[in-house]
Amino acid sequence: MKFTLPKWYDLHAHFRQDELLPATIQSHLAMGCAGILAMPNTKPPVTRVSGKNTESYWTIESYRAELEAAGNSKLSEIIVPLYLTKETTADMIFEGAKSGLLKSCKYYPPHGTTNSEFGAPIKTYMENGVLAAMEEAGIILNIHGEEHALHGEDYFGKNSNAEDFFYRERVPQIAEKFPNLKIACEHITTKTAADFVSQASDNVVATITPQHLLYTVADLLQGLKYHLYCLPLVKFDEDRQALLGAATDTGNTKFFAGTDSAPHTHKATACGCAAGCFTGLIAPQLYAEAFNLSEQNFDAFKNFLCLNGPKFYDLPISDETFTLEKKSQEFENLKIGGQEVTLLTNGLNRPALSWSLSQND
Ligand SMILES: [Zn+2]
Repeated sequence: MKFTLPKWYDLHAHFRQDELLPATIQSHLAMGCAGILAMPNTKPPVTRVSGKNTESYWTIESYRAELEAAGNSKLSEIIVPLYLTKETTADMIFEGAKSGLLKSCKYYPPHGTTNSEFGAPIKTYMENGVLAAMEEAGIILNIHGEEHALHGEDYFGKNSNAEDFFYRERVPQIAEKFPNLKIACEHITTKTAADFVSQASDNVVATITPQHLLYTVADLLQGLKYHLYCLPLVKFDEDRQALLGAATDTGNTKFFAGTDSAPHTHKATACGCAAGCFTGLIAPQLYAEAFNLSEQNFDAFKNFLCLNGPKFYDLPISDETFTLEKKSQEFENLKIGGQEVTLLTNGLNRPALSWSLSQND
């Protein structure tokens, strides 16, 4: 069984910086990516639009240039969202939109995940004119949809969790107050989020990672497979089934690929674990596995991986292609200098993937 697809866009991924950058970009090019949306939670974070990087912030202009150079200009499109902080102003949004450098802004819950300590609560941007400016200027809001500062049962419980709360309480308010704001709900993990996005207007879409389509919290806990530790956490099977139902629906125009691939050279530490699964090299193969890709659902798969995302972000569909074949393929971890980034599947002790990928150029 073989399927040829247009090169796709990973519309949520982490590439980091410095010596990691060429290797992480290369791993995306190797899996048939035409373009990327590169997250701004670098060190320091990308909190300004134009000009040169400084010690306390980076700019979209400079980080994009670095990403482009690291990929030898082989990526046709690179979007870097602006990291929303207390210092973000409506004027920055309007100026950024005018410059053409600013396409989207990223909301991180304060202290919610890796390098996210610069964010302010979502209410700040709802009230200080930033979301209103984005709505007016046509700038997309990328949301990490988890309520901050929840603990214990509220953070991750039997009946609710930080994401469930955020999609019941916060996102409906944003969508109601700013009906023309384009919202990309990122790496959704719950039935609550999938149901909300399905029922919301066409301005509200969502990305889903391979791990959230394939695994549940049981896979993380049994044997403490920490390479599957990412935020938001993998959830229960009812949630996974809701995500899978949304992604594989033949009429799906709103759900698309965004891997949230995140390279960590030190995943587990003495007092915890860095959040993020690395799925460079292997993401289309994992999505194919989650879909149980066949002639019957090929169109739905193509919509999810290759068409819905670029349509929302107004990016061209690539005229280059890659091929997925039902054939076992193995991968080694990424080695960068003396450091190593473990592929999610290797970290789960399943080095052989059931789909292999080849490029057609
Ligand atoms: Zn992310």
